[in-house]
Amino acid sequence: MIQIKSNIYSEGEYLRFMVLRDGKIIYVGNTPLPGIDIIDYSSNYIYPGFIDSHTHLLWYGLNLVRCDLSGVNSEEEIYERIEIYLGKKSNVNYVIAEGFDETIFKKNGFPSINKMDERFPDIPVIVRRICGHIAVVNTKAYKLLKKHIDKNFDAKTGIVKEGIILSLNTVLKPGKAEKLSALKEAQKKLFSLGITTISDMATDDSFEIYNSKDLELNVFFYYPALFSKNLNEWRDNDNAVLKGLKLFTDGSIGGRTAAISIPYTDSGTKGEIILSEKDFQKAVHEANKKNYQLAVHAIGDRAIEFALDNLKKRRNDRIEHFELSSKKHIERVKEQKIFLSMQPNFIGNWSMPGQMYEQRLSEKYFKFNNAVNSINKQNIPMGFGSDCMPPSPIYGIESLKNAFFANQRINPTEALKFYTEGSAEIMFEKRLYGKIKKGYYADFTILDNPIEKTAVKKLHVISTFKKGKQVFTKE
Ligand SMILES: [Zn+2]
Repeated sequence: MIQIKSNIYSEGEYLRFMVLRDGKIIYVGNTPLPGIDIIDYSSNYIYPGFIDSHTHLLWYGLNLVRCDLSGVNSEEEIYERIEIYLGKKSNVNYVIAEGFDETIFKKNGFPSINKMDERFPDIPVIVRRICGHIAVVNTKAYKLLKKHIDKNFDAKTGIVKEGIILSLNTVLKPGKAEKLSALKEAQKKLFSLGITTISDMATDDSFEIYNSKDLELNVFFYYPALFSKNLNEWRDNDNAVLKGLKLFTDGSIGGRTAAISIPYTDSGTKGEIILSEKDFQKAVHEANKKNYQLAVHAIGDRAIEFALDNLKKRRNDRIEHFELSSKKHIERVKEQKIFLSMQPNFIGNWSMPGQMYEQRLSEKYFKFNNAVNSINKQNIPMGFGSDCMPPSPIYGIESLKNAFFANQRINPTEALKFYTEGSAEIMFEKRLYGKIKKGYYADFTILDNPIEKTAVKKLHVISTFKKGKQVFTKE
């Protein structure tokens, strides 16, 4: 048994003591339980472990062990990072470098097949955007992927969209050892950010990491509907539990592939719905039969409409992202009893004045994007996640606090609720996860300041506990 003394956030108030036994919380209150040693965190603040409602654990981990392009500031820097990576790894057969976001580049630039051929003539190189929906390949990589690339390839620029790009790992299969090191790296990172449970949007090859004894996070996962026949092989274990099927109805705003009604102001295009009604209904049918929940990726208003129409006869499914919804859509979500999984970090990344949404979208969309506060007011079950861009709840909470539009802005304690119990709720796990309360799992994170102070620079994770075990300590 462990007794902890701190400022422990439990259902809206701070209490002084909690006692843990066998991975669960057995007591929270203002007086200590006698006879149990006390660990003193009096100067810190303890919150329920964050639950990220939308991750890609394997993909994120592979990013960490492969060539990570997050934070690059120019096209040139992309090539430099790849050169550094190749300098360190001598025996790779190809390079998948990912995570660049050209909307934050200081001057315009996008990787191109010509430049990549010039810099990397001898090895296949695939450079994937942060959204995962768009990539640029060099000629060697094009040859490698040729038979999987369909009409979505532009030979002039080297850009490939959707299709194979979304499921690169199915063609360029990472080995087991690479996957396991990806899991370890990803998990370490998530614990360091105070995340103890995730709702994972799996790729079809995630089973090896879900069955690994190294998995300590709780993973509730959604599997690509397209590959659902693989699920016959799957058995839930203590840490990884299958929740349902994942569907894509459109792409991303960053890739200009989200399906919208008013064209992108900088391209005149409107994106595309990438799922047929028939395939959607096939997934609905299977979900009915096997009691699966559906998690439907829908970003643009046309995709949202399409998702809502196809979920008419269902209840308690999830729509992921829901970025360019209208007030009408929000009403329909409420009526149809749909759950939402939203990403507040997108607001911080792209929704401030001058950022991508304003550059790319009509004013109507810009003024009403990621309208989490409007949704909050409707009491719609909602969880917060990151899509791993980046997976920091503190950054997401800060994004909401500083959001430009009132229809987005939410204060930190309220945002915390959606990052914990809200995320638990939308995957039917709110009785054991998401709160510091007697009977709940002892999943919590210790911060150096109260959550109200949220700002990445002012608020730090000191330590994280998963089922009563300390899994992260700040050095
Ligand atoms: Zn995603």
